[in-house]
This record gives sequence, C-alpha cells and structure tokens, in this order.
Amino acid sequence: MLQRNYAINTTEAQKRIKDLTNELILHNKNYYELDAPTISDVEYDRLFKELEALEKEFPQFKEKNSPTQKVGSSGSKKFADYTHKTRLYSLDNTYSYEELEKWYEKIKAEFPTRKELEVVCELKIDGLAIAITYENSYLTVGATRGDGVTGENITANLRTVKTIPEHLRKEGVSLEARGEIYMPKSAFEQLNKRQVQAGQKLFANPRNAAAGSLRQQNPEITAQRELAMFTYAGILNDKNVKTHEETLLYLKDMGFNLNPNFKKCKNIQEAIDYCKYWDKERYNLDYATDGVVIKINELAIQNELGFTSRAPRWATAFKFPPEEMSTKLLDIEVNVGRTGAVTPVAVLEPVFISGSTVQRATLHNFDEIKRLNINIGDRVLIKKAAEIIPKVITVMEKSCEKSGSFEPPETCPYCGTKLIPAEGEVNLYCPNSFGCPAQIKGRIEYWVSGDCLDIDGLGGSIIAQLVDRELVKTPADLYSLTIDDFLKLDLIAEKSAANLYNAIQASKKPELSRFINALGIRHVGKEMSETLAKKFKSFENFKKAQLNDILDIEGAGEKIAYSILDFFENSYNNEVLQKLEANGVIPKELSGDEVKDTFAGLTFVITGTLSAPRSDFEKIIKDNGGKLSSSVSKKTSYVLVGEAPGSKFEKAQTLGVKIINENEFKNLLGEQ
Ligand code: NAD
Repeated sequence: MLQRNYAINTTEAQKRIKDLTNELILHNKNYYELDAPTISDVEYDRLFKELEALEKEFPQFKEKNSPTQKVGSSGSKKFADYTHKTRLYSLDNTYSYEELEKWYEKIKAEFPTRKELEVVCELKIDGLAIAITYENSYLTVGATRGDGVTGENITANLRTVKTIPEHLRKEGVSLEARGEIYMPKSAFEQLNKRQVQAGQKLFANPRNAAAGSLRQQNPEITAQRELAMFTYAGILNDKNVKTHEETLLYLKDMGFNLNPNFKKCKNIQEAIDYCKYWDKERYNLDYATDGVVIKINELAIQNELGFTSRAPRWATAFKFPPEEMSTKLLDIEVNVGRTGAVTPVAVLEPVFISGSTVQRATLHNFDEIKRLNINIGDRVLIKKAAEIIPKVITVMEKSCEKSGSFEPPETCPYCGTKLIPAEGEVNLYCPNSFGCPAQIKGRIEYWVSGDCLDIDGLGGSIIAQLVDRELVKTPADLYSLTIDDFLKLDLIAEKSAANLYNAIQASKKPELSRFINALGIRHVGKEMSETLAKKFKSFENFKKAQLNDILDIEGAGEKIAYSILDFFENSYNNEVLQKLEANGVIPKELSGDEVKDTFAGLTFVITGTLSAPRSDFEKIIKDNGGKLSSSVSKKTSYVLVGEAPGSKFEKAQTLGVKIINENEFKNLLGEQ
C-alpha cells in the first residue's frame, strides 16, 4: 500500500478521491477502449495506489464506480458482448521486493503447518488477456477479458492467431484456456515501418499494437499482424490436476503455446532471484514483459485464498522498474557531433526511468520531429531500455492543437556555417569540419573514450575548456599539453592536473584497433577497426591499403573502402597523423601470434550466466577470429550457454544449432 507523504483533512480527502476516481476512469477508457493511453503504466499505478490508500483511510468517500473495485473496462462495443462463464480477474501488483515478501509471508501465516509454499513464477506478458472455450476439443468461442464479467466476442480474429489451436490434441476435452495475446517486438518494428510507408499513425508500443490488431473488425487485417499467444491458465475438468504447474503442462499437452521461461520456486527468495534475473534478461526477449507473475502452486490453497473484488489473493505481479515514462518536453536543443551531423535533442522535465533520472533524450533527426508532430510544451513518452540512450517515442498529449511545429535551424548554432543536407541521409550536416568547435570537441571526446584511447579523467567539461581556450584543436594537441596548461583551467588542482597529464602520456602506445577506431573514419566503427587491425597488422600497412585490399575483407563494402581512402587523402588528416607521430603516439603492431584464427568463420551467441563476465568470453571469441551475434539464427555456429539461460537457448534447440557449455567452449579453444 502506498505510504502517503502528505497530511490530508477530510474535505481534501473527499475531493482527492473524487478527482482520482474520475481521472483513472478516463485513463481506463483511453487504455482499454481506445488503445491510446496518455500516461505511462507506472504513473497510472501510482495514481491507483494513492486512491486505494485514501479509500482505505476514508471508506465513506469511496465512489460506487471506483476503478479499485473493478477489472479493466467493459469494452468498446465494436464487437458483440460475451458473458464469461467464469469470471476473469486482474492482478495486484508491486514494484518492491519487500512488499513481495510481505505478500508471501501473509499467505504463509494462514497455513501455519506449511514450512514453505511453492510458487510458480511466470513472465508477465505485456499484451491483452483473452479466454478461449473449447467444447469436445474444438474452439467454439474466444473473447477479451473486458471487465472480467463481459468481454468482446472476437472469435473470428482469434482464429487467425497461429499459436492458438483450433482443435485440441486429445479428443473429447472441454476446457477454457486463458492467456495473453502479444505482438513480438520484431513484428512490431516491421508493422511500424509499414505504417510509416503508408503514412499512417505509429503504434507507441507492442501492447497497443497487439490490442489494436486484435480488435480489428476485419479478421484479415488481424491475420496480417503476426500476433501470438502465451497460455498461462486454464479451467480444466480433470481432477488429477492438483497444481498450477500441472495445469500448465496439461495445457501444453493439449497443444497450447506456453512461455518456456516459467519456473517452480520453493520459496519467495527463489522467486525474487527469478525476478532479478529477468529484470536484466528481459531486453533479450522478442516480446515485451512488464514483470513477473507469482502464483501459489497448489490449487487447493488457491481455492482457500480466493479473490478480492478485482484480483486473486493467491497471485501477485512484481513489476519491473519502468522502461517508459511520460514527461514534458521543455526545449529542443540542436547538437552537432564529431562528424558534423546535426541532431535534435529533447530537453525534458526530469523523470526517473529504469533506475536513473533522464533529462535529455534523442529525437534522432528533424524528419522524426515532423513525423511525431512534436513541439515544445507537449507531453511525450520516453523509453529507456538497458544501456540504450533514452529516446522520445511518441507524443502523449499536445500542449495545444495549434502549437505549431519546430523548425530545423539553417545555420550551425556553434559556428554559424550554413547547414547542408547530406546525400541519401536524413541528417543535416555542418560542413565546417575542422573549424566548428562542437565537432572538435566531439572528436576529442571520442578519442579519449573507452573504446578508443581510453584516457581516464578527461571528461566533457575539461575538453570544452581546452577547446574554448584554443589549447587543443586536434587529438594530437593533447600530447603537447603541460601540467601548467591544465592548471589554467577552472577547478583543476595540482594533483588532478598531474593525473590528467600522466593519463595522456600513458596512452601513447595504443592497440592498433583502438587507434584506428579513434581516428573516427566515417563508417568505420569498433568492430570494423578490429577487423582492419587484424588484417593489416600495422598502421603503416593500413595507410598503404589499396581499394582491393579493403574490399577483400568480409563486411567491408565500397562505402567503407572509399571512406578509408578519402580519409588518408585528406591533407588535414595527414597533418594530424604526422603530429601524432611527432608527439610519440605510435600504435602497437600485431605480431602473427596475436592474430589467432581458431574461431575464424564461426558465429557465437551467448546466453545465461557464465563463470566470468560475458565481456571476457566475447573478447576471447573475437581475439580468435570469431564473430558474435545477439540473436540465434540458422547461421549461428554455437550457442554458449551458462546458468539460467534465456530464450536463446530454446531457439537454438528449435533450430538445431549446436549448444555448448563453458567446458566445451574451452575444448574448442584447445585449452583442455
Ligand atoms: P495487469 O496488466 O497489471 O495484470 C493483470 C493481467 O496480466 C492479466 O489480466 C493478464 O492479462 C496479464 N498477464 C500477463 N502475463 C500473465 C501471466 N503469466 N499470468 C497471469 N496474468 C498475466 O492488469 P490489468 O487489469 O490488465 O491492467 C491494469 C494495468 O494496466 C495497470 O496496472 C497499468 O499498468 C495498466 N493500465 C495503464 C493505463 C494507462 O493509462 N497507462 C490505464 C489502465 C491500465
């Protein structure tokens, strides 16, 4: 229950309860009927919990139509009503492990003879709840959950979903299967691409896309949308089934598609470990999950616990920290990067997402601003998946219909040069490559970054001062700086000045691949730099490379080859290279031994927890000439599997890709 951190008197409580009730009813309509929410789920949950807490404290003011007493919403009237034979419920939820433990302990207290109570953990699929009836083993009717009592009859649409069986694997069985209809992330991306091409509105997330696709009046459109279903519950007429786990396996035997990642846990601690594991791994799945559903396994105990007015007492949902939140767009800043590309950046009212406060998000390019029809003052939805830069995904509410549109600048805000469009690209560019201070700063920031020369302590604000005071114009100038130069900067004391100087001097013998990467040659990133270093072994060889030498490399097409040749033809670049050499910055050469090819031509995918950080294994694979991929396909040579592997393991099994453990990996490497 939400701890309110403000005092409230009776009159205020009555008003707040009324306001929250109305606000939540409106959000329910937007979410369930129109598939167009205007706030994020976390914000909704926060308002919901506030209302729940107030209603508990002031029950006399609880409104008859309070959303806390109801499941969802009755539907849009686009389809015929369907009255469920057995009610469907929602789920209580929490964002805290402490509350999860409390929920479990409270249940355990009701069954004092039990030392532990088994639970089944399942991923909470972010889609749409449905119930499908089978009579004599044939699908007869399928409906949305609606308000739990009445849903929408969408049988024709459900019949188009491939993972829903038309006929059960055993004859003469009658049952009701319940599950979640979802749209795989890959299908969602494809759908949005098609929407762009057709000039139609984009879907904000896979859930909205799934809901919109399932509730189409023309089943042919639903059929084109690649929907799928995970079945997670059933009303069975089989007395032998005594646990939730057995229910799931029964449904699987009947031909339903289960999410493969469910797990039976002995106690709540194991369930919490499961939640923690999937909080990190969820990004590797091809479907959206917003949490974990924890269900008491024994059906006899479930029956004793029963339901509240809107949720079972025997189950609860642990929700992952949000990936998406809405906030106000305060401004649009124009950023010029090291390549001269001009990108708009959203300046936001600070908002807490996935464990950190976000104040800026990318808007990609000016076309994207037009496509989103975004303007300063609008309420926007921000997404931040693990390790990905936050981005603005959609407008949730316009500040005012006629707020106009944001116009891209005509000149560079940092050097005043007229901006030009680049051929074949959506970005605008500042052509003043060597004079624009924003580009100079960008190049130096890149030079010192972790994937390049990895110079510790030289952050953005120090680089900005060095460039603004004209102490540094190119990366080569860093190596002429003295301790005294650093002391001239704001807030740099003697010790840090010496540390900065030493860190720069210590970076003079970089690995060849890092040095190539640091040069910032267009289209040559980290991976290609590693490939080039392996191929040419010394910087001298690389510099002398001819067009065909580069084209011989797998993955290097004409775009990369000409970009490299252009780079070395440019007199400015050559001056910088000469100055670097004069300052003693000389990349290491690769001897034959370092370039092993044990894994040449092989592609690896890693899943699960290994005995050392994943990056260690990735390095071994690359150092031995192998390639890495984030997803399993028929082209994958090996899937290296650690403990508690994710869905990649299942996919490898399905595709018949070779699965190896750490020992087998070491054998391949010839270490054992
Ligand atoms: P819910 O989505 O929080 O949880 C219940 C649902 O979880 C079930 O009905 C089922 O569909 C689903 N589910 C997925 N995987 C499951 C599994 N393995 N086992 C059992 N159930 C599983 O509940 P709800 O009642 O559908 O919706 C309430 C939630 O919807 C809110 O907490 C909020 O996050 C969101 N919502 C948002 C807005 C908004 O404006 N943003 C408005 C209304 C509701």
